[in-house]
Amino acid sequence: MWFSYRRKLSHGLVCAKKVSFPALVNALQLIWSFFRSRLLKRPLISGFPWAISIEPSGLCNLQCPECPVGAGVLTRKGGMMDLQLFRKIVSDSGRQLAHINLFFQGEPMLNNHIARMISYAQANGIYTSMSTNGHHLNETRCMELIGAGLTRIIISLDGITCESYSTYRKGGNLNKVQNSIRTIVATRKKLGSITPFVTVQFLVFKHNEHEIPELIEWCRSEGVDKLELKTAQFNEFGQGLVQPPTNSAYSRYTLQPDGSLTIKGTMRNHCSRQWGTAVVAWDGRVAPCCYDKDLEFSPGDASKESIKAIWRNRNMDQFRHKVLNNRASIEMCRNCTEGRNILF
Ligand code: SF4
Repeated sequence: MWFSYRRKLSHGLVCAKKVSFPALVNALQLIWSFFRSRLLKRPLISGFPWAISIEPSGLCNLQCPECPVGAGVLTRKGGMMDLQLFRKIVSDSGRQLAHINLFFQGEPMLNNHIARMISYAQANGIYTSMSTNGHHLNETRCMELIGAGLTRIIISLDGITCESYSTYRKGGNLNKVQNSIRTIVATRKKLGSITPFVTVQFLVFKHNEHEIPELIEWCRSEGVDKLELKTAQFNEFGQGLVQPPTNSAYSRYTLQPDGSLTIKGTMRNHCSRQWGTAVVAWDGRVAPCCYDKDLEFSPGDASKESIKAIWRNRNMDQFRHKVLNNRASIEMCRNCTEGRNILF
């Protein structure tokens, strides 16, 4: 939900400016190869990732129960991405890359190079977005992000009272996050900048769904550009500490009579992400998508070879082949909403 048509239009114009001719041609190639692969049931790839999610930090300051970092269930080590590695990934990606999302797992603002990363991506004409829990956004750091040219910032605010907020954001501080939102909006105004577009993201659970009307009013009054009500993914490690909302419009699951959850929609043997985007962890290892949080299916290491070479290597092709022919055999794909409502 956008709060202002003018801001929505400016965002559209900023996006359009970031799409270079090579990026446009690349996007068309990706669409074409996705549909050909679907028809022929074998991976045919032309083009390279148009968007990459890069993990600036594999560590976090909070302990959210449905997040594998917060719950402490990842087997891979946490750490901070090196600036040199970030630059290598961007320059290896070439002009086909149109969007970098500075987030995979962990809290990106813990990386002290974050503004330099954004600045480098912006200098290469790339749209940059970042998701944060909003605990490290004082005025100085907001000025750094705005000065670096960050296009869009997504701040998690999963409650409008301290009680509901801290039910999920364990270790978090609601007042701090609300102040961060005010600070980024005020600093942007002070610097006379259009960007970043400020999105508040609200994960909807049973304990906070009743707060949505109040949240809408709060966001509107604080000058937030957009509110995203997001369905939550539930995992076994979450231990039932939070539950899906009763309003099924905000849930990706259907509650069964025995209390179990079934993901909505019909799973089909395809996944457009494998024909469009890539994910790179803080140490350079690539994941086929953001659901592979522990890098179980990593096809290669972007610190050792180029992301383009990995995108077309044998491991990626084998993974795509599996998705096209037996997606249900991959556990993470069974708990994923991707492509479930697309017939073809
Ligand atoms: S979990 Fe599977 S279906 Fe979902 S995005 Fe990843 S590869 Fe695609």
